[in-house]
Amino acid sequence: EEAAKVLAAVRDRGDVEVVEFQAQEVLRAYNLPTPKTILARSSIEAVAAAEKIGYPVVLKIASPQISHKSDVGGVRVNLGDETAVKNAFLDITARTQRLRPDAYIAGCLVQEMAPKGAREVIIGFKRDDQFGPLLMFGLGGIYVEILKDISFRLAPLSVEDARNIIREIKSYMLLKGVRGEPPVNFAAIEGILLSMSRIATDFPEVYEAEFNPVLVNNEKALVADVRLTLK
Ligand code: ADP
Ligand code: MG
Repeated sequence: EEAAKVLAAVRDRGDVEVVEFQAQEVLRAYNLPTPKTILARSSIEAVAAAEKIGYPVVLKIASPQISHKSDVGGVRVNLGDETAVKNAFLDITARTQRLRPDAYIAGCLVQEMAPKGAREVIIGFKRDDQFGPLLMFGLGGIYVEILKDISFRLAPLSVEDARNIIREIKSYMLLKGVRGEPPVNFAAIEGILLSMSRIATDFPEVYEAEFNPVLVNNEKALVADVRLTLK
């Protein structure tokens, strides 16, 4: 219901990309684990938000026209105090204005940092005209492009599928933990895969979705970025 409203609003504006600060509402409607996030419209609001969330925080540019935030220098992680947050807000918004004068800037998202030692994975789907939504799972970060280590399943996913899609990547042992590292919380990742499969079947108008990254450690997983593309 809520999720459908968000998607309809984006479409009514004529946009096809649903960026993180809009898509988070869709995620919450599906009980997907998202980091605490507050939209700040000024550097003063950003500091207040950081205090509410607790340091350190992440700041991200919030603009409906900017789906690849890092491309404009729009993401700063590990901001430890008031000065860092204030400066980051001013830097990020000024830089975006300069690089993308066309973009409407709502402000910055102030976001909880994922726990130390979290590993990055990517969960996504793309709709195939013939076969329907094809879900993908892979390692995130630099590994995606270099290793091309991804596995696929058609939606809807069974519990069994969710287990297997994770175990099929070649670097599965990195998630199990090497050299005494604890394994990541596999059940949390499986839950996210199943929710994404439901989004894929519930909303035929969502053509593509990407949770990149999902940050996961041995306790929990957080969807730390999301982009949906409408048809
Ligand atoms: P982009 O739009 O460029 O993909 P992201 O929101 O994915 O922006 O942020 C870029 C990178 O910053 C992520 O790939 C991740 O490594 C890091 N990052 C983002 N959010 C968090 C977070 N909440 N905690 C820790 N690291 C994060
Ligand atoms: Mg991302």
